[in-house]
Formats: sequence, structure tokens, C-alpha cells
Amino acid sequence: MKYLIYARKYRPMSFEEMIGQKHVVQTLQNAVRNDRVAQAYIFSGMRGIGKTTAARLLAKALNCQQGPTPQPCNQCDFCREINEDHCVDVLEIDGASNRGIDEVRSLREGVKYRPIRGRYKVIIIDEVHMLTREAFNALLKTLEEPPSHTVFIFATTEFHKVPNTIASRCQHFEFKKISVKEIINHLSFITEKENIRISQRGLNLIAHAAEGSVRDAQRILDQAVAFSGENIGDEDLKEILGTISREIFSQFAGAIMEGNSHLIFQLTEKVIQNGYDLRYFFKELIQYFRNLLLVKSVQNPQELLFWEEEDIKNLKKEAELASSDDLLRYLSALQDREQGLKFSSHPRIYLETLLVKLCHYKKIVPLKKIIKELDSLKKEMKGSSPQGKFSPQAHSSTEEEDRRDKRSVSQEKRNQDPNKDSAERFQDIKKTKPQSSHRNKEMDEVLKDPTVKSFMDTFKAQIISVKETNKRKDS
Ligand SMILES: [Zn+2]
Repeated sequence: MKYLIYARKYRPMSFEEMIGQKHVVQTLQNAVRNDRVAQAYIFSGMRGIGKTTAARLLAKALNCQQGPTPQPCNQCDFCREINEDHCVDVLEIDGASNRGIDEVRSLREGVKYRPIRGRYKVIIIDEVHMLTREAFNALLKTLEEPPSHTVFIFATTEFHKVPNTIASRCQHFEFKKISVKEIINHLSFITEKENIRISQRGLNLIAHAAEGSVRDAQRILDQAVAFSGENIGDEDLKEILGTISREIFSQFAGAIMEGNSHLIFQLTEKVIQNGYDLRYFFKELIQYFRNLLLVKSVQNPQELLFWEEEDIKNLKKEAELASSDDLLRYLSALQDREQGLKFSSHPRIYLETLLVKLCHYKKIVPLKKIIKELDSLKKEMKGSSPQGKFSPQAHSSTEEEDRRDKRSVSQEKRNQDPNKDSAERFQDIKKTKPQSSHRNKEMDEVLKDPTVKSFMDTFKAQIISVKETNKRKDS
């Protein structure tokens, strides 16, 4: 028997078999049912998510001998020919290798004639964004007055590169990424049919590596079968995919959450020794923290995280090392720096510094807490203020303080006297803040500051000199 790759063997034969893309399937089936098929379509979206499959299904629906029908029979000559890729009335053109004006011109000549056997001529141009400007212009002329027996379907991974003049004459469908769950279901279906033994973790590894593309998932499965036969072990898969073991991520996350910064360097060394790409590692680390947050936030994480039960249990336990707030902060810090790592000329140092910083994150007081403390301080001040509330003078003195602060900044620029800033601020505290035991304590703290101390000495000296001058004046 001829060997068929899974993408070919398990290509959907009917709209119902399409994986995901419910919105597209439903609209196309309705269009066929109600005889409202457009003359030109654009199917856009990433690779391997069913664009050309949908195009072929539409061609079948239009030309099936039982049709036009939203459920082509797959038995008649037309259906079979389309399934076997040799239907004379369905033209599949690769836009990347036929991108010039001559190819489009000959296409234009071709569409003038009626279909040879079917009802419609269906022209599928894959990667249509690759056409040259001249080719697009030639195509536009056909689209402006399309022959009634022709349906154009343009597939593209880069919709933004398709000229507006073309796009505005087409019905546009945006194909969505396929979810991990849908890919796993599809892979389970194939492995069951093929008698392939693979663990849930294995399916999960493939589904994640495929990043939303069914075709990529099928390709990886092909590769895995070629590598290990019908028993695909997790370790084999990791080898094929170059996956970094979950244990390393767990160790990194543990070090960060427990603040063990010294472990970061050893662990990074391990990642490098194993020859892993640091950028890939970083991406996966973000994913790991996301999973930690997920198991902490969601009641039934197994619905969203397709891990084995035991693994989820361990992850939950690990997530107890940090609060949700902490995890959120780790995650946003990691995400913010992803681009930076990409462009860093010292990715290793970049990574180590960032991760060590994360180890200290828990020591940094969250803004929420600071605001809360400020609030309670405010209340305390209200209580101790003589009027029992904030006096208008207090407000004006705050404004005064602001102005003074601004002045002190500009003054600092002119005169680099290190004492000035803290000294003035000290004066402000003294002048404007109502006294309380708490304040006194704070004042004592401020007085211990060496800068303030040295200022105080100068200040005292000045008072003495003013007093002496006054004395001299008096005498
Ligand atoms: Zn048929």
C-alpha cells in the first residue's frame, strides 16, 4: 500500500469533519444551501488550519452530482476527482511560484471558457499575497467582471498584503488557530485508528508544539511514528521536539518563588549545557508561570491544561509557594522582557539578571500595600490634627511643599549640594506635619540619616551665627 502522510490520509472529506472554524463552515454551507455563493472568497489565517481544505470542500459542494449541496456525496465522479486532486474544473495554483503577470493572464484566458464537466470552475490560489502588483492588477480585471460559472478562492497567511482593491471584491473569512483541546482530540482519533500507543502527555506535547496548526501536529505525529514506531514514548517525543523537561522549569519557578537567587546561575548553566535555545526556554518559562497561575485561579484546571492528573496535582502544590499577586507580577515582568532577550547581545546575562531580580520580587512591597499604609497614616493624621480634620492650611502647605520641592530640584541642578534636598525636606516635615508619637518616631529615624545629621550641624552653626550677629547688633 502506498504510504500517505497523516495530513493527506485524514484530510476532512466533509464540512462536518473540519476541525474548528465553525463560523466558516456554517456560512459556506448556508451559502450553498441558499444558492448565495459569492464569486470570490478570501480565506486568511496561519498555516495548516484548514483554508485549502475548506476551499476544496466548497468546490465539491458546488460540483457534486447530487448538488449543489452542503453535504457532498464523496461518491460521484466529481467528488472523487476532487478528493484525488485531479478534477479538471478545479484549479489549484500556488501563488508563490506563479506570481507573475503572465501566469495570471493565462488564468484569465482559461476562466473565459465554461467548466468542462462540472457546474463551476473553481480557482483556488494559495498564498495569493505573493502575487506581483502587475499580477494583482490583471486579476482585478477578472474580478471586476467575473464569468458567472467561476468561483475564486484566495488563501493567504498574510491578509494585510492583499491589495484593498482585491479584498473589497471578496467575501473574507478569517480562519482561527485550532485550540490545543481540538488538536488533542484529532490526534487521539488518528492514533486510535492507526493503533499507535501514546500517552496523554505525549499528545499534549505535540499539540503544544503545533501552536494551533493541525497540519503541524499531523507532521510531528508522522515524524514520531517514523522515529519510534507504534509505541511513542514521552522521551522520544521530547527528543524529536527538543522539549526542555518540565523538571527544569519547576526548579526555576521554585527558585524564584522561594527567593533562592543563587540557584539561578546553576540552573541557567544546566539549560545552556543541554544546548537549549535560551529564547525558546524563556518562552516556555512564561508558559510555565501561566500554568502556575492557572491552577491557582481555576477550579477545574484539567479542562484548560491538558496534563495528567498527577502532574496537575504537583503543579498545584508548587503554586502554593506564591500568591496570585506574586505570580501575576512574575508573569508580567517576564512578558515585558521577552523582546529584550530577543535583541540582547548577551542573552545569558540578560536572562540571569532578570531571573535574579524576580527572586527578590517578594521583598518589594506591592503598591496596594503602600497605598493602604498611606491611607491609615492619613487617618491617623486626621485624628491628631487640632480641627479634627485636614485644615485648609494643611492643603496650602502641601502646595507650598510642592513648589518648594520643585524649587529644590532646580536648585539642585544649579548647585550640587547633596545636603540641600533632604535638608529642605526635613524642614518641610518639621513645618507642615502635625506632631504625633508616630511622627516623632519618624523624625528620630530621619535624624539618624547621616545627610540630615550633617545638615543639622550646619543648621545649628547658622543659628548660632545669626544669634551672635543679633547680639552684636543689640550691643
Ligand atoms: Zn458527489
